[in-house]
Amino acid sequence: MSKSTKNEIIKSLNLQKEIFGDELFIPKTKRTTSVVKEPSALFADQELFPVEKEKWEKTTSLNELEKLICECTKCRLHEKRNKFVFGTGNPNADVLVIGEGPGAEEDKQGLPFVGRAGQLLTDMLKAIKFEREEVYIGNVVKCRPPENRTPLPDEMETCMPYLKKQCELIKPKLILCLGLTAAKGLLKKRESLGDLRGKVFEYEGAKVMVTYHSAALLRNPHWKKDCWEDLKKFRRLYEELVG
Ligand code: URA
Repeated sequence: MSKSTKNEIIKSLNLQKEIFGDELFIPKTKRTTSVVKEPSALFADQELFPVEKEKWEKTTSLNELEKLICECTKCRLHEKRNKFVFGTGNPNADVLVIGEGPGAEEDKQGLPFVGRAGQLLTDMLKAIKFEREEVYIGNVVKCRPPENRTPLPDEMETCMPYLKKQCELIKPKLILCLGLTAAKGLLKKRESLGDLRGKVFEYEGAKVMVTYHSAALLRNPHWKKDCWEDLKKFRRLYEELVG
């Protein structure tokens, strides 16, 4: 096995462990021989295979990061992609908003949250006195999942390092996760959205809150009232931290 393949496997298992703990997720289509029961055993001798950083991991600018990853083919989602949706907004934002993945309009334009759910997100941000341009908006996966389905665990796992790198470069003080996919991806939480809402978590020094995804609010407008409470709390937290 080549060194780069080995690196890829180790990285992928590490990420999977981070997100899903010791339960090994093996996509059905790829299951071939035996299932590894104790993935932690695989990491014991990790130092023997130091993982070399890819070029994009070393970059210090968002623009360069986008250039380096926009032709990514690491997961199946690239196959039907029209445009790679990197993210948009203020590169020095205090607030990072995280969605799930591009929909049809986002895939067409190459920009996040530009469809109906995006319009509602703009209104939600306005309601708590944020302009879209002053925050940064990104997604857990950068390519549109077919039929707007929820990204699969292996797709999230493959794409999350890009969002983490964006976060490292932006250094937001607050993060708003829209929906369970964003919360699972960033915080590795298994709880329901109901359990995560209203609480304040930490990610790399930033305070994190979770609320409904704007697309879910379009389908279930009666959730807007609870979402409004979350947004007000998020704004209060912002004022405490940023002023
Ligand atoms: N939904 C998302 O999660 N992200 C987008 O960019 C658009 C809709």
